[in-house]
This record gives sequence, structure tokens and C-alpha cells, in this order.
Amino acid sequence: MLSYRHGYHAGNHADVLKHLCQLILLEKLAQKDKPFVYIDTHAGAGLYDLQSEQAQKTAEYEQGIDRLMQLQSANPHICRYQALVGEYHQQHRYPGSPELAFRLCREHDSLQLMEWHNQEVLNLKANFKDRRNVHIHHRNGFEGLVALCPPKPARGMVLIDPSYELPQDYVEVVESVKAAQKRWAGGTFAIWYPMLAKARDKSQTMLDGLSQLPVEQVLNIQLWVGAQPDDFGMYGSGMVIINPPWQFDEQVESLLQVLPTSLSDSPDAGARCQWLRNTQG
Ligand code: SAM
Repeated sequence: MLSYRHGYHAGNHADVLKHLCQLILLEKLAQKDKPFVYIDTHAGAGLYDLQSEQAQKTAEYEQGIDRLMQLQSANPHICRYQALVGEYHQQHRYPGSPELAFRLCREHDSLQLMEWHNQEVLNLKANFKDRRNVHIHHRNGFEGLVALCPPKPARGMVLIDPSYELPQDYVEVVESVKAAQKRWAGGTFAIWYPMLAKARDKSQTMLDGLSQLPVEQVLNIQLWVGAQPDDFGMYGSGMVIINPPWQFDEQVESLLQVLPTSLSDSPDAGARCQWLRNTQG
């Protein structure tokens, strides 16, 4: 039984990092006329009400999208993200990864959205009622990803954004990407993961597994808003990008120069972007 609900966390610092990366990847795909597919293995509800009881209980968005919206930056990706998300933010809403993707896809692109939670998939269906080229699957996103690969068209990206409620999620990320990548070598895979307290951080084995995949490039991006706690709590998050497009690393580096100080007042906030594997470098 899944209990995680993204409504408690929508618009937090981790969403800001994840969705900025997603925006850059989708904008790159949209630079060419050819159609592409966007696959979201853990889609959530698609759209969130920041005035809901869930969001108000944690108010995590205050250290995420609320702060980001106040940032004055000439960075084109931040400006695009602010313009897009700002439309929702004005109405105290936050667009999840499916909504952002829908806004960045064109008429001939398509979305494959998977969600396993019984209620959350109903919320997703309600939020995406009558949307063109959107396919919603009530299924396990790890096995669904492999089943959908290679997609048609064979051009596009996957967002893998588990809740990591189950320790097995860390293992399934590596297994599913390995199997999907074998069937779809040209796809770009973006994987989100939490940076947790010392006693709970299980991400290293997953990062080792991803860095050993038979692919040319694996990029690891991390953003943290404070010091790593000893026992409990998420102090930052990471994105692993497999097969990033040309110059993506440089574009992310420029984001990371401003994000830590924009999202946090802590002297321990920081960010890094490193190749876990780069056979082109
Ligand atoms: N990607 C969303 C976004 O950025 O707006 C947020 C997704 S949230 C972090 C993770 C979602 O995955 C939750 O809605 C949860 O119910 C769902 N989930 C958990 N395990 C799953 C699985 N094996 N397959 C598909 N969905 C799953």
C-alpha cells in the first residue's frame, strides 16, 4: 500500500531542481520539428493546490517555488520556468511534471504518464481530462517503462521520480533503466533522488549502479539547502541524467550558480554537477 502523497511536497526545492532540469531537456527536444515522446514513470497528480491542507501542513513550497519566484535572474531557463510556473503560482497552484511537460510539448508530441497510487491516478485523470496526446496508465512505472520501450517515436525523454518509500525503489531504478536503455539506446533518462540524513541515505549504491550502465554519459546534479543531518530529514536532492543533450551540463552549471543562495539562507547550502561516466570527455 503506497502512502506517499506529493501534495505535501509540491513546489519544494527538490521540485524546483527537478522541473528546471525537465524544462531544459524538453526545450532541447522541441528545438527540432520531429515529434518526441515524454514518459513519466511516477507522474503523481499532475497539478497541486498550494492552499490545500496537505501543502499547508508542511509549507515546503515556501523554501522552493515561493523563493524562486522572487529571484531576479537573467538566466533564460530560470526566466522560462518563472513565466510558465508563474501562471499557476498566481493562483496558488503548482504544476507537477506532467503539467509542465504538457505545456512544453507540441501538437505532434505525446505523453505517457504512469501512476500506481489508486487515488492519485484518479486525480491525474481528472486534471488531464480531454487533453490531447496524453496516455495515462494505472500501473507500476518501473515495469511500465520497460514495456513501453522502445517508444514510437523513438525520440524523447523519461522522467523517473519515485517516492523511495520502499528501499527496493533504489534497486528498481537501476534495473528498469538498464532494461529500458537496452531497448531504447537513444532515449534520455532523468532520475530524481533524495539526499537524506547520514543514517538513512541509500543513494550511493544506486549511483554506482547507474554509473556502470553501458552508456556514453551519466551526469549527476546535486543541490542541497543545508548541512546533512545525522538522523532524519531530506537536506537536498539529485538528478541523474543518462545521455544528456549537448551542452546540458553547461546550462545546468549556470543554474547551480544561483540556486543554492536563492533557495536557502544557510551557509551550508550548495550544489555540484559531476560526470559519473563520460566516454566523450
Ligand atoms: N513526478 C511528479 C512531479 O514531479 O510532479 C511527482 C511524483 S511523486 C515524487 C512519486 C509518485 O509515484 C507518487 O504519486 C506515488 O504514488 C507514485 N508511485 C510510487 N511508486 C510507484 C510505482 N512503482 N509506479 C508508479 N507510481 C508510483
